[in-house]
Amino acid sequence: MPSIGVFALQGDVREHLQTLTALGVDAFPVRRPSELERCDGLVLPGGESTTMAKLARTFELLDPLRERIHGGMPTFGTCAGMILLADRIEGGTSDQETIGGLDATVRRNAFGRQVDSFEADLELTGLDAPVHAVFIRAPWVEQTGPEVEVLAEAHGHPVAVRQGHLLATSFHPEVDGDGRVHRLFLELVAG
Ligand code: GLN
Repeated sequence: MPSIGVFALQGDVREHLQTLTALGVDAFPVRRPSELERCDGLVLPGGESTTMAKLARTFELLDPLRERIHGGMPTFGTCAGMILLADRIEGGTSDQETIGGLDATVRRNAFGRQVDSFEADLELTGLDAPVHAVFIRAPWVEQTGPEVEVLAEAHGHPVAVRQGHLLATSFHPEVDGDGRVHRLFLELVAG
């Protein structure tokens, strides 16, 4: 049974833990480096990416996260988690740090005020039926490097991407109880 941590200094941690537990994995919150060491894979949840990065820095988790993730640990970022995985961000605060690893430019709060939060049924490469996607002040992927595969789009922009051991979605697959996107991630963990 793989051990999957969920970054838990801020964000919608509980929903990810529930989804992962329902899929039969050992899922636990990660707040300190010793917990990170136990992980076969990691989820970076939705939340507020600026706060998450600051807290990770304060709790001395940012550099260990970079080490593990850049070292190949399978990692799944949702919404703010996608922002944390991005090598480059648009619309961030001037001092906003990311963990990085995903060769992409991600724009924060990209859908603008009109479609601030919305839901859509999306085709996602690797799934045989559309996934119900919930977007909450979501980012989109603005530019991708050659290693990045786009798995889904909304409003003409990539909203689910994969690069090797990294998976990221603009939306929140943890909120509607459909575990299929998490299962795709667990396939990455299984290698
Ligand atoms: N807008 C948030 C940010 O920039 C992300 C929103 C979310 O995770 N639901 O961090």
